Amino acid sequence: MRKYVIMGVQGSGKSSQAQTLAASYDLVHISVGDIFRWQVQNHTKLGAQVRRIMAAGELVDDDMAEAVTAQRLSEHDWNYGFVIDGFPRNRRQAEFFLESYDIDAVIHLDLPDSEVRRRVLARRLCAGCGMDYNLIEGRPATEGVCDVCGGALIPREDDTEEALAVRIRDYHEKTNPVLELFARKEYVVNVDARPPKEVVQKEIRERLGLPLDA
Ligand code: AMP
Repeated sequence: MRKYVIMGVQGSGKSSQAQTLAASYDLVHISVGDIFRWQVQNHTKLGAQVRRIMAAGELVDDDMAEAVTAQRLSEHDWNYGFVIDGFPRNRRQAEFFLESYDIDAVIHLDLPDSEVRRRVLARRLCAGCGMDYNLIEGRPATEGVCDVCGGALIPREDDTEEALAVRIRDYHEKTNPVLELFARKEYVVNVDARPPKEVVQKEIRERLGLPLDA
């Protein structure tokens, strides 16, 4: 059983690294942001409560984030373990998490703020099928049109200059104490997120001592 937390500022590739890692080692990828986005897209009661907060780039309140995370982990569909992405985001959430789950490592993807801005402002999402694009790495065949379903490519609602500035500031203020807390327990593996994603993935696997051929 392997239990990992993955942390990194928006645009650090945390979701895609978590997905690749999870797929290779039979782990379940749990993205707390995806759970909230699903709630918003499906117009649930919870979605209505968090929509504006998310669009402004702010964090939803701790009780709600903790409840959603605990509920997802209680499904116990993670026989071989999990990679949790987007939680914990502050010290209180980290303490809540450490009370309930023992973890093997925290993967921290490190990216300078200037690179964060460049990457995030190039992100697009298909309004039809939800496929993610990054215009720096891979443009669609026709500009503004999804290669898969022909839907329109739009920025994520929270990927504006203003919301991004809030998220970066918030990230440093709130996440640094989490990293300090985990580092005291020697859980943190710092990985440079600037190289191409295959290189970053290999580095993560090496640093976690995982078999490289999976
Ligand atoms: P993400 O996809 O991880 O960037 O998350 C998108 C949004 O979901 C965040 O900007 C927050 O509004 C909300 N969110 C996700 N995870 C958490 C969390 N652990 N605590 C509070 N809010 C969260």
